[in-house]
Amino acid sequence: LKIGPFQTESFIDYTKPENVKAHQDALKKVRQDLGKTVPLIINGERIFTEEKLTSINPCDIQEVVGYSSKATIEHAEQALQGAWEAFSWWKNWTMDARARILIKAAKLLRDRRHEFNALMALEAGKNYAEADVETAEAIDFLEYYGRQADKYAHPAETFPYPGEENELHWIPLGVGVSISPWNFPLAIFAGMLTAPIVVGNTIIVKPAEDTSLIAAKFIDLLIEAGLPAGVVQFLPGVGEEVGDYLVKHAKTRFITFTGSRSVGLYIHAEAAKVVKGQKWIKRTIMELGGKDAMIVDETADLENAVTSAVQSAFGFNGQKCSAMSRLILVDAIHDEVLAKFVERTKALTVGNAEDNSNVTAVVNDESFEKIQKYIEIGKTEAKLETGGTADGSKGYFIQPTIFSGVDPNARIAQEEVFGPFVAVFRARDFDHALEIANSTEYGLTGGVHSRDRARLEKARAEFEVGNLYFNRKITGALVGVQPFGGYNMSGTDSKAGGPDYLANFLQLKTVTERF
Ligand code: NAP
Repeated sequence: LKIGPFQTESFIDYTKPENVKAHQDALKKVRQDLGKTVPLIINGERIFTEEKLTSINPCDIQEVVGYSSKATIEHAEQALQGAWEAFSWWKNWTMDARARILIKAAKLLRDRRHEFNALMALEAGKNYAEADVETAEAIDFLEYYGRQADKYAHPAETFPYPGEENELHWIPLGVGVSISPWNFPLAIFAGMLTAPIVVGNTIIVKPAEDTSLIAAKFIDLLIEAGLPAGVVQFLPGVGEEVGDYLVKHAKTRFITFTGSRSVGLYIHAEAAKVVKGQKWIKRTIMELGGKDAMIVDETADLENAVTSAVQSAFGFNGQKCSAMSRLILVDAIHDEVLAKFVERTKALTVGNAEDNSNVTAVVNDESFEKIQKYIEIGKTEAKLETGGTADGSKGYFIQPTIFSGVDPNARIAQEEVFGPFVAVFRARDFDHALEIANSTEYGLTGGVHSRDRARLEKARAEFEVGNLYFNRKITGALVGVQPFGGYNMSGTDSKAGGPDYLANFLQLKTVTERF
């Protein structure tokens, strides 16, 4: 594509009253559509089903944001067949032609940024900045993958050999299934579907039940940007039903999944079973949970460390796979940093996303119950410093919660809670802190606050995470700048927004001709 180089999208500045007004106007606009139903889209046809999924506002559970049609197994069959038909011609489009659709979609998304942000406030409970950074990330994925595609339009490098022509071609895999989570209902959803299609695959997308409306809005935008019918089959529905069926299907070539460890491992295992009529080994790309730790030592800028900890722990209520859920403080500064961290956490506002509260409601009743269960477990395992209360009368509100004196083997030290919930540990020294940090099976994000070069270098080499941050927050990876993804039980480290991400959806073919 003859376009300029990739640049990350800047964020909207909500200290400016005009931007606050634009967000609030968009909320009014989005509210005019409350209660509408979005369809499935199979081969370009919009299908409204009798049975529906309901999206509610987590901050105001009486408010129905809208309904989504619900895909059945028959729909999955139609979608698979249609996607293979579409693959027969979509794979022959040039990379540039496919990439232009992404670039056009980025432009449309930029134009409608406030509207998407507002829908994320209502359907997912995102406050202004959390919604906006997500829309910016979605734009970045489109712009970045649109540019990266060109790399795979050309044969990969091989050594010359006398008398022969050797070529190494990238070819798409076929029809995949993309199953995404609710916590980044726009950015992750968009990234996980546009990456496979830009390099010539076709895909069936199953968004998270809680956030099908945002997903539907993005699909409409892609269609407006010129996406031909059949390339993306939009199948909102229940994971255990339509998602499970697609995972096990003989005609599914690959599965790209972002979500919990338990569902991811289940899908990985099911995908490994060869079923009747299956011609390939299914590829799985898995981005799973985290139990992300930040270490603070006695040489650190403690103010900066506390600010980073609060941001990393409670941004979007800790509902990020990258969120800091473990804070490891070396003994010399433990009490001071813990006191400041608790004090700053207590100052956070808890309330509606629309009012731009720091901490809003968690996504659904299941999360609400799960986090409360971990609060009860925490009370038996450690000392409750702040929070620990929940109020479900209006929305799914949980007070930001901190436990201290946590044993590294405790359940609240090991299991992902996925809410505004932090376990604090006292380490003897830096080495002990690093040992605690590495003592879970996860390996997604991590951070160190220190001014000691040797320690930073030790962490650089030995901290077992896919994304490691020094002297800053551990969330907010930028597309193209900090390629994102974890290893160990956090996933297959596919690095979304990274220079090789598109290769996850391609295979290579070597062709040799002797003259
Ligand atoms: P989840 O419960 O695992 O669900 C993820 C997706 O899988 C949803 O679309 C869900 O559908 C579907 N699903 C559930 N059971 C299924 C089955 N048996 N077969 C096929 N699909 C199935 O995760 P979540 O609660 O949405 O998201 C939170 C989790 O995602 C956390 O663990 C977080 O750490 C992780 N996450 C990881 C990353 C990363 O990059 N590593 C990024 C974001 C989030 P339903 O909605 O219908 O249940």
